[in-house]
Amino acid sequence: MSAFGEVTYDNSTAAASAPDQGAQAVAIDPNDPRLVSESLTDSGADAYAPMPTLPDGKWRAKATQLDIKDDNRQQQRYAVFSRAKMENGMPFFATNVQFSVIDHSGSFDGVQLTEYWVRTLIDKRKGTSQAATLTRKLGGKTSASMTQQQVMQGLLTALAAEPECIIETAWQADCQSCQEKAKVAGQKSPRPFLTGMHRFPATREPGVHDPIVQCPTCKQQVKAQARIVGIFGLSESAATRGTGQSK
Ligand SMILES: [Zn+2]
Repeated sequence: MSAFGEVTYDNSTAAASAPDQGAQAVAIDPNDPRLVSESLTDSGADAYAPMPTLPDGKWRAKATQLDIKDDNRQQQRYAVFSRAKMENGMPFFATNVQFSVIDHSGSFDGVQLTEYWVRTLIDKRKGTSQAATLTRKLGGKTSASMTQQQVMQGLLTALAAEPECIIETAWQADCQSCQEKAKVAGQKSPRPFLTGMHRFPATREPGVHDPIVQCPTCKQQVKAQARIVGIFGLSESAATRGTGQSK
């Protein structure tokens, strides 16, 4: 466990180079056995066919940290923000957390969902922050005396171990066209117009629903996206979908 308060990216020069870490070009031999030994298991398969939308349920998933854009549009491991509408402009740290579904023998292994803007900002009504809650669910430790920076460091430490948890997902249809219009008009972004897989049209295949629906406002076709609606520690809940097993 690294020491709390140890800031990994404390200046913009280091932060700007962060996304390149681990992505250095490596010379690959065209005869690399990994390129030639793979057999085509299904010559009729279509690599361009859309993946089916992740069905609603609870999935075992692996959590990792994902860089966040700061207010200068630089990618950082985490960054400091302040928003007038959030706790009267109290400053806070935020990062993104990516969840990768574990479904080894199923069709959804490796499907990724991102929880954006996981914040150290304390929600006055709940008396805790998203970052502290998530840290505990991922098996990390928090305490009431921690500073926001220590909470963020604790979350990053927990995420570095690529911990597993249970994510609950649900289909959600948002109309991007209507959202863009509202943005341009300076209006509040419309809420998703349909939530929950079972409310989407049924297909001939039992239990399988069609993610394509029509926006009731502008009549455009919209495809449902699987969204995270709940995150649980492994001791709090169990997967209802997938074949996710502990390593
Ligand atoms: Zn619309």
